Amino acid sequence: MRGRAMTPLPADVQDRILRNVSPHGSCWQWQGARRSTGYGVIGWRINGRAYTQQAHRVAFAAWCGPIPEGAQLHHTCRNKWCVNPFHMEAVSRQAHSVRHAAERTHCKSGRHPWTRENQIHNGQCGALICRLCRNERMKEYSRVRR
Ligand SMILES: [Zn+2]
Ligand SMILES: [Zn+2]
Ligand SMILES: [Zn+2]
Repeated sequence: MRGRAMTPLPADVQDRILRNVSPHGSCWQWQGARRSTGYGVIGWRINGRAYTQQAHRVAFAAWCGPIPEGAQLHHTCRNKWCVNPFHMEAVSRQAHSVRHAAERTHCKSGRHPWTRENQIHNGQCGALICRLCRNERMKEYSRVRR
């Protein structure tokens, strides 16, 4: 069995999905079960075999066709819980992380613009962190010390 190969979908898969969503703007908010990651899951049986898949991946396959092997789905609406297949784009894992880095508008705290000027490396080879957040932390630190 190939690990990531798409499992067979039930004939009424589109109905099953539509029964579990409520509209939220143009997004389809998943009302069914969710995993701790925030992604919805949907389960079904074919010939006595049970399948469970991420709901947004099933929706994409149901409306747009099979997801290329190894591809991830990027939510162009940025709502993890959205299963509208037209809000998704199949991208390679690498392209996906590039996309997320490019779309990021604020630092982790959400309080500072995530611009090149505000980014510094955490140590010599460390990840990019927010300069303004670090400044605040340092100010806090010196105040406590005084
Ligand atoms: Zn959406
Ligand atoms: Zn994404
Ligand atoms: Zn910040």
